[in-house]
Amino acid sequence: MSDVRNVIIIGSGPAGYTAALYTARASLKPLVFEGSVTAGGALMNTTDVENFPGFREGIMGPDLMDNMRAQAERFGAELVADDVIAVDLTGDIKSVTDSAGTVHRAKAVIVTTGSQHRKLNLPKEDMLSGRGVSWCATCDGFFFKEQDIAVIGGGDTAMEEATFLSRFARSVQIVHRRDSLRASKAMQERAFANPKISFVWDSEVAEIKGDGKLSGLTLRNVKTGETSELPVSGLFIAIGHDPRTELFKGVLDLDAEGYLVVQSPTTRTNIPGVFAAGDVVDHTYRQAITAAGTGCSAALDAEKYLAALA
Ligand code: FAD
Repeated sequence: MSDVRNVIIIGSGPAGYTAALYTARASLKPLVFEGSVTAGGALMNTTDVENFPGFREGIMGPDLMDNMRAQAERFGAELVADDVIAVDLTGDIKSVTDSAGTVHRAKAVIVTTGSQHRKLNLPKEDMLSGRGVSWCATCDGFFFKEQDIAVIGGGDTAMEEATFLSRFARSVQIVHRRDSLRASKAMQERAFANPKISFVWDSEVAEIKGDGKLSGLTLRNVKTGETSELPVSGLFIAIGHDPRTELFKGVLDLDAEGYLVVQSPTTRTNIPGVFAAGDVVDHTYRQAITAAGTGCSAALDAEKYLAALA
């Protein structure tokens, strides 16, 4: 068993790397588990990021994450591209097990495992991510000025995304599998009243089309089986997110949707010495800058906790 560290960080998006930067600069020598497949987090799958402050011309998602990683490393963060497969967080000394079965121990743990946007699971969906296919209107709406856009989903998020996109787009078509919406009445009414928004009912996406850039969708009517073409240059998938909290079920408090619960405005979870930040906590904002911001808060909360132990 390795020596007891000050802090282990699980997750490597903007929240994890920011927590790593701050704890490293506080000489806490953090050990960061970045994940084996998706090290760097959600922004590794996108192109231009134009709303992260400090980059006047914008920056490519993977470049932003490489910079964050290198900045944390420069101050002594130890970064490991591996998954945490088990945790024991209850005692004063917490244990984290890596994929080889090695147990790492620390006095504090920061959880920044993010959330996974639900996918349609269609060919070309990943390939065209950031090239017409998006999961975030706040992030990408600006790129679709005067264009025709499809939004997939029937809940509050889909209505909110469509309403927001209507500020930029020429038209927004909401494609929904059923003939009625799950969204709240107020959100529905706002979408129905918007002259740029129309609805394609009882339909799902059968095919995402385009080479290098989205060129359109083939839709299938779920009642009749008939297919039709929708020539759009933007596709926003708004069918929900799944926080990555499998490891923490029964250990840390989760809300009804499976997100970690923290004692807001701090990042403290229900277990002393365990902190959480970024999209694994956040239903609402889901931005790189907010994840980085709460990652900073988690590092400062952990520092204060460790100082009180000394
Ligand atoms: P994530 O970035 O999701 O990172 C969490 C990471 O933790 C995972 O990827 C994985 O590597 C790691 N991990 C998970 N489980 C484990 C484990 N068990 N062991 C080890 N590691 C683990 N936001 C913006 O502000 N601007 C944009 O332009 C923008 N564009 C986006 C484009 C796309 C396609 C997507 C999907 C999102 C975009 N966002 C954008 C949202 C932004 O990416 C997220 O809000 C942000 O990345 C959340 O950061 P996070 O650190 O909480 O989690």
